Amino acid sequence: MQGVHARAPGKINVFLKVGQVMDDGYHDVATAYQAVSLHEDVFAYEASDFSVTLSGSIDTIDVPTDGSNLAIKAARALARKTGYRGGVRLEIEKHVPVAGGMGGGSADAAATLLACDALWGTECSREELLAIAAKLGADVPFAFTGGTAVGTGRGDQLSPALATGHFQWVLAFAEFGMSTPKVYSELDRHRERHAQDIFPTPAQPTVDANVLQALRSGDPRLLAESLHNDLQAAALHLAPGLTNVLELGEENGALAGIVSGSGPTVAFLAADVDAALELQVALSAARVTVARATGPVHGARLIHD
Ligand code: ATP
Repeated sequence: MQGVHARAPGKINVFLKVGQVMDDGYHDVATAYQAVSLHEDVFAYEASDFSVTLSGSIDTIDVPTDGSNLAIKAARALARKTGYRGGVRLEIEKHVPVAGGMGGGSADAAATLLACDALWGTECSREELLAIAAKLGADVPFAFTGGTAVGTGRGDQLSPALATGHFQWVLAFAEFGMSTPKVYSELDRHRERHAQDIFPTPAQPTVDANVLQALRSGDPRLLAESLHNDLQAAALHLAPGLTNVLELGEENGALAGIVSGSGPTVAFLAADVDAALELQVALSAARVTVARATGPVHGARLIHD
């Protein structure tokens, strides 16, 4: 049967500052996203109702296949918005670790919006699809646009950032997932317990100028110096074993390592392809599950197989 194939990338937050909790319960954040070459592939086929099946290179056991799957939510949201009366059968090939802090579910949602719009011939504009994306989750608009961008608000108010060159990443996957809300709650508890006067919660978080400069320069050493994640301490508190992974990577040639988003994936920045390969081998030898990726890459797009 003729279907539509769309692909969307996972992301690394190369910089993430977390501000106050807003009225909608989300934290105000300022982040610099980089889309990386670890993709989700979504295949969409005509159907009378909505369904999803999963396959891919990672464990998908914890991913729901009912109406709570973000891809199904995305398809239903598009159908509602456009008045489309049919459904869709989705097949997702997942490569981004589940609940790994790399926005895999968001990538599924972004690719699904594009795939269904093409399959159904609903001809939404980019802006219309982005508006639906923003309602589905904070990271969905970035999975849609890709590249390098600054996200504010919940992370969904995007402005493009200039970037040159390609950065080489080695990603260390954990055998467990972490709930994003739990990591934010841990950060809140941490802030209540510790030194609010020394490290006050920023009233209006912003992305440091040196990160943007490093992204513009394409120089991995500069970027390594400015990687930052406010959620890292909370993630390490909940999963202390990640500290060893960070140390292992830094001992084996990584310029720097950072917990990606809410974790538990750890992203290591390498100086070049050779250094990335060496690091990949060293981490594999220590029985860490790893993948290599480059960034920035495109956002969601249709693939003409
Ligand atoms: P983020 O970095 O955006 O916070 P994440 O990468 O940590 O997200 P995801 O893999 O996107 O996490 O999924 C988080 C949870 O959402 C999963 O534990 C799963 O129960 C649920 N979920 C719903 N739909 C999907 C989907 N299509 N793929 C993965 N998880 C999904």
